[in-house]
Amino acid sequence: MTEPMTDIAAKTTPLVKVENLRKLYPVSKNIFREAHDFVHAVDDINFEIAPGESLGLVGESGCGKSTTGRMLTKLTDATSGQILLDDKGELIDIAHIQRSDMRRFRRRVQMIFQDPFESLNPRRTVYDTVAESLTVQRIGRVQEREERVAELLHRVGLTPPESFLFRYPHELSGGQRQRVAIARALVIDPTFVVADEPTSMLDVSIRISIMDLMLKLADEFNVSYLYITHDLAVARYMCDRIAVMYLGKIVEIAPTEELLANPRHPYTRALLSAVPVPDPAYKRERVDIKGGISKALNPPPVCRFIERCPRATDQCRTSDHPGFDDLGNGHLVACYNL
Ligand code: SF4
Repeated sequence: MTEPMTDIAAKTTPLVKVENLRKLYPVSKNIFREAHDFVHAVDDINFEIAPGESLGLVGESGCGKSTTGRMLTKLTDATSGQILLDDKGELIDIAHIQRSDMRRFRRRVQMIFQDPFESLNPRRTVYDTVAESLTVQRIGRVQEREERVAELLHRVGLTPPESFLFRYPHELSGGQRQRVAIARALVIDPTFVVADEPTSMLDVSIRISIMDLMLKLADEFNVSYLYITHDLAVARYMCDRIAVMYLGKIVEIAPTEELLANPRHPYTRALLSAVPVPDPAYKRERVDIKGGISKALNPPPVCRFIERCPRATDQCRTSDHPGFDDLGNGHLVACYNL
């Protein structure tokens, strides 16, 4: 029997440990004045990912999940906090990494983007795209690089590789482009990959095959994913644990099946109640929430979900945003009224 991932996470040193991570964007009406207003895109979040584990980061658009992914891949700088990556026993703080360590960091951490049409350079062949990291990292000679790229194309299902090596992105379908993006991310054997909605722009008919491919490769390459998605059904398919994010905060985190069977935060319950159930005899309780997600501009210190919450009480209105309650088995919830 497979060991539950929370137990694994508890026993092993985490591969990634995020502590008090924040990203604030200054908003200024006058370019000559110092900004006093800030959008709190990501506000004091904490989580860990175990080696080989896949953590889903779920929430509506604008909740801060993509900003989190961009900070973890160093495409955006954090305002404060730490992102620790275990590199063979040595901890690298991604949030404060020195320029001289960037090459080593890129070898460990890669990203797969949402849009396979935007993320590939239209002027570069498949070979150039996939081999780029090998060249930058100075791995292998030309012939070894060619063999490695061909091997990766084979493993992502672009076969025979020779017929894809010198094609340009416009000669590929959306699914084939995303396979190239996956090959590019894995060619240098990273330990951690951030995947930002990698199937949401693909035809429904090919999404499952790309998700199955990513699951198979995660196993073969022993990589951990931070899998960003707005879709709980996708997170269920792909992830060992799920963290639910709302307006810059993680409001609930738990092993996947536990979260889906026993959601405790009102926002998670509302998200889940909107997911269709295939069995018509089964009626899931509908949880209605008011309005839509707003911009986290200078948010008051109270619970971030208070404006939309059907369960808000006086305590919620007069207290700070709640910390996590530990319900056991790795299930953490930030709410006063459980
Ligand atoms: S703390 Fe209060 S406002 Fe926030 S989610 Fe819980 S019940 Fe709703």
